[in-house]
Amino acid sequence: MSIRSEDFTKVVHAGVEPDPRTGAIMTPIFQTSTYVQQAPNEHKGWDYSRAGNPTRDALEVAFAALEGARYGLAFSSGLAAEQAIIQILNPGDHVLVCDDVYGGTGRLFRRLFAKYGLEFEFIDMTKIENVAKAIKPSTRMIWIETPTNPLLKVIDIAAVSKLAKQAKAHVVVDNTFASPIYQSPFELGADIVMHSTTKYIGGHSDIIGGAVMINDAKLHEDIKFVQFAAGAVPGPFEAFLLLRSIKTLAVRMEKHSENAMEVAKFLSQHKKVESVFFPGLPSHQQHELAKKQMRGFSGMVSFNLKGSYENVVTVLQKMKVFSLAESLGGVESLVNHPEKMTHASVPEAMRKHLGIGPNLIRLSCGIEGTKDIIADLEQALS
Ligand SMILES: *Cc1c(COP(=O)(O)O)cnc(C)c1O
Repeated sequence: MSIRSEDFTKVVHAGVEPDPRTGAIMTPIFQTSTYVQQAPNEHKGWDYSRAGNPTRDALEVAFAALEGARYGLAFSSGLAAEQAIIQILNPGDHVLVCDDVYGGTGRLFRRLFAKYGLEFEFIDMTKIENVAKAIKPSTRMIWIETPTNPLLKVIDIAAVSKLAKQAKAHVVVDNTFASPIYQSPFELGADIVMHSTTKYIGGHSDIIGGAVMINDAKLHEDIKFVQFAAGAVPGPFEAFLLLRSIKTLAVRMEKHSENAMEVAKFLSQHKKVESVFFPGLPSHQQHELAKKQMRGFSGMVSFNLKGSYENVVTVLQKMKVFSLAESLGGVESLVNHPEKMTHASVPEAMRKHLGIGPNLIRLSCGIEGTKDIIADLEQALS
């Protein structure tokens, strides 16, 4: 299990060409909304920045390169990217969604898009027979998040894609948790890959953004039309920050995942810890599958603490290297309480069913020194 050598190179160069006018090695921030035309509709390829902007164009080329796809599209948030994907569907279409999705994804589907005649069905996709059983003639899309948030379940992308092909449904993979460095859904049969670039791709807790990657020309045209017509695009400065972030994605992921592995090992032998969720542990239910479809296990670890909720809060407040905050994937370590924070919008019965309870803690392991991270957990748990 290791990062492909070519991926370290790819992230440094993806999308960025020297500026043709000045030779600037970094893509300039084209902070402009409009472009002067020589004659009506005669211009240099850009007419209005909702439709296209040179800084965003470079980012979209970089996005495509990250997933080895033909096309990339940039959005103003991960949820805006999801919205554009869903908006290619029609009323009456059925979407299968894995049950352990990011809280905001479930909220977008249940509370917003369900109003427009789309049908969402949430199922446990760790059992492939559940997917086979739930597909019906109106199923147009199968939405996978793997590893899932916050319980880090792993779903077999290749097996789901095979079923989807037979049903002529599109497979969407939310690849935010693994990042393009550790998982390549297109190689496993996916049709659309999306990321919240707020997380690992951005990596510095300073932007909100989303990405969609596609191979099929028609699918690209349809999603690009939503991007243009609805306009949830990032500004040039966000695009620039992401171009800068992408260059260090591979080295960051290497350290995130090294830290997470050590944290998972440390927690699994700690007497105050009830259970640990990390796909890199041999005790993880889908460890073999994770080893097969991922090249590393990324930086997220969840665990259940023994004792009362008050005890959990004390531990959260004692942590110093880990800051108590929502989000993940930044260079700094973060700790989150899913039940009260990121997953508060998940219906209570669903949370119970999934196992998101008062004692569950989710860690986003940053890139600080491994010993300092472990020492922080040690003192907080003592
Ligand atoms: C954060 C997140 C999203 C939503 O992205 P935003 O950038 O917050 O809109 C979607 N999926 C996953 C897995 C996430 O972690």
